[in-house]
Amino acid sequence: MHQDVVILLEVQQDDAVIFEIEDQIGALAPRLAALEAQTAAAERALAEAQNSLDGEQKRQRDLQFRIDQHRALLKRHEDVLNTVTSPREAAAAVAQTEQVRRMLADDERDMASVQSRVNDLRNYVADREADVEATRAAQAGARATLDADRRALQERLDAAQATRDEKARRVSRTLLARYDRIQRRERSIALFALRGQSCGHCDTMIPMQRRNVMVGTGAPEVCEGCGVLLYADGE
Ligand SMILES: [Zn+2]
Repeated sequence: MHQDVVILLEVQQDDAVIFEIEDQIGALAPRLAALEAQTAAAERALAEAQNSLDGEQKRQRDLQFRIDQHRALLKRHEDVLNTVTSPREAAAAVAQTEQVRRMLADDERDMASVQSRVNDLRNYVADREADVEATRAAQAGARATLDADRRALQERLDAAQATRDEKARRVSRTLLARYDRIQRRERSIALFALRGQSCGHCDTMIPMQRRNVMVGTGAPEVCEGCGVLLYADGE
């Protein structure tokens, strides 16, 4: 057998190992995604709670502004009440004062319920913050395991790649380039032995003339049927 074929068959075995490790690294992704989805859900709940609290606090500020205005108005009406000279003016000023007092009473009632909602939402936000912290803490172990698994696989991959590259350097460049192209496309075996008169992968019959060249030189040829590399396994 041609020396290039012998080495390339070894490279092909190394590539099978590399694909397997790459698949294992790929399989870690869903584990990480699941952890991140869990954290994201807790963070989303916190953001929504904070948003509700912000909204309620804005209503509280607006209401306080209205209360301040009504108090100033009340003050003005009371001042008028102190300076009126006729009973008719006094009656009007009393009526206005009463009206503003009623508005202020409504304001205070609104303020009490807004304050109660703000307090509830503050507690709710604190609970969601605790949830986020608890989720992160609960995941610490799982994330550490995941990182360790990934590092171990990466080390194995680097080692397998180094072994493969070392061997691949001893194969002729043109042949290696053809092999790499096919192998990357198929992501599986690229180099097959002739089976009788046919391709060992797709069973296409190989013309006798090409078979003779392959047996004669020992150099692999591309199958016209399926595009893999074929070598004569004769001697
Ligand atoms: Zn074929």
